[in-house]
Amino acid sequence: MTNKEAFGLAKKYIPGGVDSPVRAFGSVGGEPFVVDRGEGAYLVDIEGNRYLDFIQSWGPLIFGHCDPDIESAVIATAKKGLSFGAPSNLETKLAKLICDEFKNVEKVRFVSSGTEATMSAIRVARGFSGKDGLIKFEGCYHGHSDALLVKAGSGATTYGNASSGGVPADVVKNTYLARYNDIESVRAIFEANPGKIGALIIEPIAGNMGLVPADNEFLSELRRLCDENGAVLIFDEVMSGFRASRHGSFEFNGIEADLVTFGKVIGGGCPAAAFGGKAAIMDCLSPEGAVYQAGTLSGNPVAMAAGIASLSKIFADHDLYDRLNKLAVLFAHGLKSVATKHGIALQTTVRGSMFGFFFTASEVKNYDDALKSDVKLYAKFHAKMLEKGVYLAPSQFETGFICDAMSEEDIKFAIKSADESFAEIVAQDASENEEMREVKARIADLEERLKEARKEREAIQERMKNSWGFA
Ligand SMILES: *Cc1c(COP(=O)(O)O)cnc(C)c1O
Repeated sequence: MTNKEAFGLAKKYIPGGVDSPVRAFGSVGGEPFVVDRGEGAYLVDIEGNRYLDFIQSWGPLIFGHCDPDIESAVIATAKKGLSFGAPSNLETKLAKLICDEFKNVEKVRFVSSGTEATMSAIRVARGFSGKDGLIKFEGCYHGHSDALLVKAGSGATTYGNASSGGVPADVVKNTYLARYNDIESVRAIFEANPGKIGALIIEPIAGNMGLVPADNEFLSELRRLCDENGAVLIFDEVMSGFRASRHGSFEFNGIEADLVTFGKVIGGGCPAAAFGGKAAIMDCLSPEGAVYQAGTLSGNPVAMAAGIASLSKIFADHDLYDRLNKLAVLFAHGLKSVATKHGIALQTTVRGSMFGFFFTASEVKNYDDALKSDVKLYAKFHAKMLEKGVYLAPSQFETGFICDAMSEEDIKFAIKSADESFAEIVAQDASENEEMREVKARIADLEERLKEARKEREAIQERMKNSWGFA
């Protein structure tokens, strides 16, 4: 089967052929390839084409595809049973690994997706604070639960829906929108709604409007405003946790939230996510407290084993984040320099193993800035890179990920591919411009001849009038 045939069949049975919208290439055009397998830094499609994979399952695979240690942990665990619906030591072990790393995380609860983690964190925050109001930021994505689908970045941005169909206005009426990196917009909400705001959720390193880190001063003011107003501060580190650094955003800003959400890396490629924080807040959860939250497959043993294997491997390797960061910086710098060479404006950002780039000349500090980037150019670039075997996110508003299976050669190959891609795009644009000029010249010529023809007609009509003496 070809990619085209396979995706055609998928579209027959699955809406859009995908189980998560951005996978469908809607914003960059064309159709996705259909994956057969992963191999370290690469993905291989069903036609046998290989792609250097800068998505890495959208973050989880920090060691790349098919890491042997994670693989063997998963297989050994699966042989003892796929799900128990009863406590296992694996959950405790992964919980301890996380809590030992984060001073502000005394207890965690596992769920199966980042969406559940943020949704549940907000519920427990509201239960603890006794207030319904929630502040979120434009361009931040916290999963697809109803109350959070307001200006939610990436997928939602790509598809041009500020929010989503099927979300009752009643459900989002307690969600207050603030501007990223703009403390006055937050202060204004607190001031206009005294005693109403129970929680504030933010990606301290935003990765879902492209990569846009929050300023440290902004975050420390957020911390202060939440304390002053009795609101629970939630850091959504589903993407940045164990990705930007071993301690997520903490190594960059030193700020501790009341609750933190994790996902992606902590599942090592299996469905696991978590939310955690101070015991006083977490103990509001049922069965200790009155806030209900549950899950048939929560703390699934296979997912826990994959998470334990990942985190253990991360903690055992003290150079890991330095290595990953060097490659991310190498790629970002390389990309910037080849773009500049071809006269293309590009902004790049790196945080640990995460990188981002925008096709715009001005600095990107928030969602509005991000939206200024040239998405048509991104679409062309994405297609060219894919042709050359480099798989970038099929949207301008996503973060790229380095994995430990990547080598310097891989990065150099990607930069060379970018250089060639830009050259082709510039040449194509020039030839399109040339064609455009020719078409315009032809139109001008035709208009000139039309004018002359009209004049001639008038002259003839004049002559006819005179010769026959019509009125
Ligand atoms: C991916 C992501 C989520 C949602 O996680 P899912 O597992 O896709 O439900 C939430 N928050 C952030 C910051 C994310 O990057």
